[in-house]
Amino acid sequence: MKKVYLDNASTTAIRPEVIQEMTKVMREDFGNPSSTHSFGRNAKSILELSRKSIAKHLNSTAQEIIFTSCGTEANNWILRSAVKDLKVKRIITSKIEHHAVLYTLMALQREFEIQIDYVAVKPNGEIDITDLVELLSQETKTLVSLMHVNNEIGTVLDLERVGRICKQYNVLFHSDTVQSLGKTEIDLQAIPIDFLVASAHKFHGPKGVGFAFVRKNSGLQPIFYGGEQEKGLRAGTEALHQIAGMAKALDHSYTNLETERTYISELKNYLITQLEIEFPAFAINGTIDGFYNMLNVLLPFSEDKTAMILFHLDMKGIAVSRGSACQSGTIKPSHVLAEMLSNEDLKKPSLRISFSHYNTKEDIDLLIEALKSI
Ligand code: PLP
Repeated sequence: MKKVYLDNASTTAIRPEVIQEMTKVMREDFGNPSSTHSFGRNAKSILELSRKSIAKHLNSTAQEIIFTSCGTEANNWILRSAVKDLKVKRIITSKIEHHAVLYTLMALQREFEIQIDYVAVKPNGEIDITDLVELLSQETKTLVSLMHVNNEIGTVLDLERVGRICKQYNVLFHSDTVQSLGKTEIDLQAIPIDFLVASAHKFHGPKGVGFAFVRKNSGLQPIFYGGEQEKGLRAGTEALHQIAGMAKALDHSYTNLETERTYISELKNYLITQLEIEFPAFAINGTIDGFYNMLNVLLPFSEDKTAMILFHLDMKGIAVSRGSACQSGTIKPSHVLAEMLSNEDLKKPSLRISFSHYNTKEDIDLLIEALKSI
């Protein structure tokens, strides 16, 4: 049975070149980057070259890239320090953020009694910018936290536009760019943003490593204390093989971006065409022009199919997702879809199908065939 992986918004396969780079570093470059001898200096040089390479692709300076263990850590650090150290009293966010942001903000609200305002989400899953502007008219030290590409429905925020609005109102701007970084151009000289975060396993790098972009002179303070790594902002010996793998993965992502984006967009269009033929009553959750690597669809099946659909597809070797990965396997509806769909539609099966350049049209044919057999 051919196995079909269409869950690339959850995680991606590591590129062979990345594995090669990581094994080389593990085998040969095991020094501690903080050591002053030649082993340490060699490791330090790999660390700093990785940082420079990442910064170059984002048009930032290397000092503005801080390595972390994952996207979740980077989000937690930025939001917590913004409240604790930058004295942010109010955060504007949306109810369709990833839990790495939503649950962090809830915890901060309990601990620091900050004000949290949720910007309106339109029925198609887009952020209502007019509502954002209205919310910004209050005079409190504020941070706006809005994700770039939604991980469940693929809606895209205009980072540059929101960045300009935030600048105009003199508030801080953080964006969870875990789903977009490595998959679309991000120019940090053009986008007025204070903080963004990335996770290597979303762009064909290893799991357990990510980074934060922290604009120069932000005033952010560490949440971990210990060594002087990452200029004292993130203590702990750097996972050099992970970081080198992440830099290599990002380099390949941006070098191949145009070709892979065109290829993946064609796959997505092919899926939409096949769904129109086989399930004409299907609906897209989100917008038709959402991010090119994913499609969230409401299938015209009865409610009793909802609980079993993933299991059924899995039995046929097909991996897709219902909302975000952490909720798969539970019947609890996705908090993102809950913001957009009627109670009736929420009970029906919705699937998130997400692609990478490793997918083929045959994968989509197999998915369609499997769906027809349900
Ligand atoms: N933010 C978004 C939008 C995500 O999709 C994910 C991963 O699912 C995360 C944050 C968490 O990233 P990590 O797995 O690196 O902690």
